[in-house]
Amino acid sequence: MTFLVTHVHTHATCPAVNKEVAGTFGRLMQAAHQKACGVEVVGCWIDAPAHTAHMVLSAQSVADVQKFLWPVLRIGSATTTPVVTAAEAMAIAESAD
Ligand SMILES: [Zn+2]
Repeated sequence: MTFLVTHVHTHATCPAVNKEVAGTFGRLMQAAHQKACGVEVVGCWIDAPAHTAHMVLSAQSVADVQKFLWPVLRIGSATTTPVVTAAEAMAIAESAD
């Protein structure tokens, strides 16, 4: 399954400038952490002035995604949205008629 994740933190908990939490977001990008959680990071984009990260993840379940996000739990909030590709959506629409 594919998930869109938006993670938001504040300037006070920004891992880019706060040494106490510097390793939290970085851990998400470690291959060993991703493998342990069963999550593949398809892509990650950062809007630094908004303290927001947008990620596309591939995982078998939202439980895997939540395990993956655990290191950043104490520095901000995240929303997880399961999605399909446009081609999959079109196939669903065609089969629903
Ligand atoms: Zn930040």
